[in-house]
Amino acid sequence: MKTKRKTLDQKTWKKLIKILDDEYSLYIRRRDKFKCVCCGKKGFEKDGVMDNGHYFGRAHFSVRYNDDNCHCQCKKCNYTHTIDKTKYTIALLNKIGKDRFEKLSIKANHSGNFTRYDLITMIKYYRKINQEYETKKQIW
Ligand SMILES: [Zn+2]
Repeated sequence: MKTKRKTLDQKTWKKLIKILDDEYSLYIRRRDKFKCVCCGKKGFEKDGVMDNGHYFGRAHFSVRYNDDNCHCQCKKCNYTHTIDKTKYTIALLNKIGKDRFEKLSIKANHSGNFTRYDLITMIKYYRKINQEYETKKQIW
């Protein structure tokens, strides 16, 4: 028997965060062509070895879905930067420049809170981008 899937409107806030994390992670990794921002290691969509690495961790909700804060990372670099941020800081400064880096740092320290409506809007937005990518295979 086929069970009917819950629509986004029926899902809890926590579940919406999980869906958005997955959708956004795919968007970031595709944007960066599955190449690690820190060491240059290359992965593929199907092998699952690349992560969406948050410079400011996921607890910083204001930049949890921020394109300057999130970059493709291999699992090793993603783990390493939780202990030592030096490598990621250098890579980030090279990629986005000092001005954007400073703006990101300010934004990261603001509290950000998403309503269920915000999350549903973002899920739909990144889903659309991810679906477009699947049909065109090149949006960036
Ligand atoms: Zn790496």
